[in-house]
Amino acid sequence: MIAEVVSIGDELTTGQRLDTNSQWLATRLGELGTKVLYHTTVADELDANVRVFRQAVDRADVVVASGGLGPTADDLTREALAGVAGVELVLDQSSLDHIRALFARRARPMAPSNNVQAMFPKGSTPIPNPHGSAPGIAMAIPRAGRPDCRIYALPGVPAEMKEMWPWVEGHLREAGLTGQIIRHWRIKCFGTGESDLEAMLPDLIRRGRDPSVGITVSDATITLRITAAGSTPQECYARMAPTIDTIRQCLGTLVFGEEEDELEHAVARLLARRGARLAVAEWGTGGQIAHWFRDDPKCADFFAGGIVVSDAPSAASLLDLDADTLAAGAESAAFVRGIALGLKKSLDAEYALAVGRFPDVPHAGASVVVPEVPPKIHFAMAAKHDVIVRSARYGGHPALLKVRAAKQALDMLRLYLLSETTSPEGTQLA
Ligand code: ATP
Repeated sequence: MIAEVVSIGDELTTGQRLDTNSQWLATRLGELGTKVLYHTTVADELDANVRVFRQAVDRADVVVASGGLGPTADDLTREALAGVAGVELVLDQSSLDHIRALFARRARPMAPSNNVQAMFPKGSTPIPNPHGSAPGIAMAIPRAGRPDCRIYALPGVPAEMKEMWPWVEGHLREAGLTGQIIRHWRIKCFGTGESDLEAMLPDLIRRGRDPSVGITVSDATITLRITAAGSTPQECYARMAPTIDTIRQCLGTLVFGEEEDELEHAVARLLARRGARLAVAEWGTGGQIAHWFRDDPKCADFFAGGIVVSDAPSAASLLDLDADTLAAGAESAAFVRGIALGLKKSLDAEYALAVGRFPDVPHAGASVVVPEVPPKIHFAMAAKHDVIVRSARYGGHPALLKVRAAKQALDMLRLYLLSETTSPEGTQLA
C-alpha cells in the first residue's frame, strides 16, 4: 500500500509557511503501516492541482491532501478533484446545513461564498469538520485494472485537519488500506562521529534489514531509530528488543539515553542517584547549560545555579580567584579550571562545570568566516576529589559551536559520573 501526502497553498510554495501538515500526516500514515513514498507541495493553481492529483492517483493507492478547501477564489481543491474524477460539483444539503448552523452559533452572517464549501465532486463523501466551515472530501478514483485510488482532502488549518484525522483513519482501516502497525524506538548517542559510530554497528544500518535501523545527527547528538512492524505495539517492541540490546552492547557508554532523552536528562539522572547538584560557569556557551537545567523540570532540582562569564576580571572577583589563575589569562585552561573550582565552592555544589571563552569569530561583511584552524576550547569539571580539564578543537560553522560545546561539557560530567557508578555487575548505564 503506497501513500502520497499533498499539501496545497501559495503560502507553502512561496516559503512563507512551513508545511507541518505533511509531517504530521506522514507520521500518522506510517503508524498505520501505510508506506508514504511521496510528498508533493503545490500552489493555489487549478491546472497544477489537477496535474498533481492525476499523478498521485497513478502512483499511490492512498492520497491524503490538506489545504485549499476554504470559501475563497484561491481554494481550488474541490474543483481539482472534480476535474480529476471527470465529474461535476453537486450540493450536499447536510454540509450546507452544518455550515449555516456554524455561522448562526457564532452570530455572524454567512457570506454567499461559503456556499461553495457545501459543493462536492459527485460521488464523493463529505468528511465532517465539527469546528470549521470546510468539510473534507473523501473519494475513490477508479483506475483501469487496479483497485480504486482513495483520496482524502482535509482543510489546511492544522487543528481542524487533526480533529478530522480519526475519520480518515477509521475509513482506511475499514477499507483494509492499512498494513501492520509500525513502531519506532530511538537510542541517543554522543561522543563520536556518525561514520565511526556506524562502523561500530556491524551490518545493522543496512537497507532492507528487519527491524530497520536509521541514523541521524543533530547538533552532534546521534540518534539511531529502530523500526519494526507487527500486529500489536507489544509485538513491534519484542521484535526490536534484540537489535536494541546489540546496539547497547556495541556502543557502551556512547549511548546516553532513549526516546526523548537529551544529555542533560542523562546527567540529571546520575546526579539524582547521588542527591548531588551541578553548578555551571559558562563563558563561550553563554548560559546554554544553565538554560537546559534550570528550565526543565526533570533537571531543575539538580541545578545549584551558575554564572555567565563575560570578562576575566569580573569572574575573578566574583569567584575570588587567586592571582596566578588570573595571570594565566582568560584564554587558558588554567583559568577555566579556576572558575570551575571557584564556582563549586561559591555555590556549595557537588559538581561544577566550566566552559572557556570561544575565540572571536571573524566576519567578512555579513557572513561569518569559518576559521581554517578550528578554535580550541577548554572545559573543566570539578568534583569532590578531582578536577578534570579537557580541550577540544571544533571544525564546522561557528553557529554550531555553542550547543556542541555545551553538550561536550555535559558529556564530560556524564562519563565521570558513570565511572564513579559501579555495581557488582560493573558500570551502570543511566
Ligand atoms: P480555510 O477554511 O481556513 O480556508 P483551507 O482548507 O482552505 O481552510 P488553507 O486556506 O489552505 O486551508 O490554509 C488555512 C491555514 O492553515 C493557512 O493559512 C495556514 O495557516 C494553515 N496551513 C495550511 N496548510 C498548512 C500546512 N501544510 N502546514 C501548516 N499549516 C498549514
